[in-house]
Amino acid sequence: MDASMFRAWIHEAARLVTENADHLTRLDSAVGDADHGINMRRGLQAAVAMLDETDPSTPGAVLATVGRALISKTGGASGPLYGTGFRQAAGTLGVDPDVSAAQLGAALAAALTGIQRIGAALEGDKTMIDALSPAVTAYQAVIDTGGDLTNATRAASDAAVRGLKQTARMQARKGRASYLGARTIGHEDPGAASTALILSALATVSS
Ligand code: ADP
Ligand code: MG
Ligand code: MG
Repeated sequence: MDASMFRAWIHEAARLVTENADHLTRLDSAVGDADHGINMRRGLQAAVAMLDETDPSTPGAVLATVGRALISKTGGASGPLYGTGFRQAAGTLGVDPDVSAAQLGAALAAALTGIQRIGAALEGDKTMIDALSPAVTAYQAVIDTGGDLTNATRAASDAAVRGLKQTARMQARKGRASYLGARTIGHEDPGAASTALILSALATVSS
């Protein structure tokens, strides 16, 4: 995967999140403050604009730019969390012009670690971690058994969707949703939903 493929990923993620912004906001209206779709659309559109403006030439530079854009423009809890995730992923890629499927797996794992370091959410807390963590595991399992990028990103995307669905049964223990306690049960987590969209975009551009 080269820089243009990573840019295509972010373009597709911005398109998918924009298309589903109302859905994300509706999910957040049930468990939070009804702004997740608005936040993510603003952040990812800013990321696309910054990529178009600065034209970074390596995958690591693309993800670092996305991280900066998300931190400065998304807002909410999700902005710093996603921004940190992208920046940590960028850090593992260094200045390599071409990234292997295994390197992308390490980058996804670093994103997960970074988000957990600042957000302190564990699996089962009803957050984006419930989509991202199983996705990282599924991706690595495909790579470990000799699978390629297409299969690994598809497995990650599918695992994220399964994780998202499981959040409906969970009670929120992190972020604004945690204030609502048991009333969050029965609703999917908005951040898990946006993570599933971002990983679906990755699978699309890797197929
Ligand atoms: P805010 O809650 O500040 O309005 P958003 O609505 O944009 O921010 O994002 C809410 C999402 O952020 C939640 O659905 C959840 O997935 C995620 N989130 C909140 N707190 C945490 C945390 N500590 N760790 C991981 N994810 C979190
Ligand atoms: Mg919100
Ligand atoms: Mg908010």
